[in-house]
Amino acid sequence: MEYCFTKKNYLVSFITSIFGTTEQKNAHPIAIYENYSYWWKRDNKKSTQFVCSHESCYASIHLKDDIVLKESGKHYHDK
Ligand SMILES: [Zn+2]
Repeated sequence: MEYCFTKKNYLVSFITSIFGTTEQKNAHPIAIYENYSYWWKRDNKKSTQFVCSHESCYASIHLKDDIVLKESGKHYHDK
């Protein structure tokens, strides 16, 4: 898996993961927040939603301009 760092600030870091392909259009950003990683889920009108990448974990965050607007759910697993 290849990673390339596209953006970073003190709150959230983003990496772009290319899943076994070199086609950039298939790459979705991954947000790293407080040592948890989140997969991109969907763009809403006012924010972008990411969900925890841990299997069966439904914690999610909503981002706007790289800032965490809202956290939903709880992580039951270790970082
Ligand atoms: Zn989680």
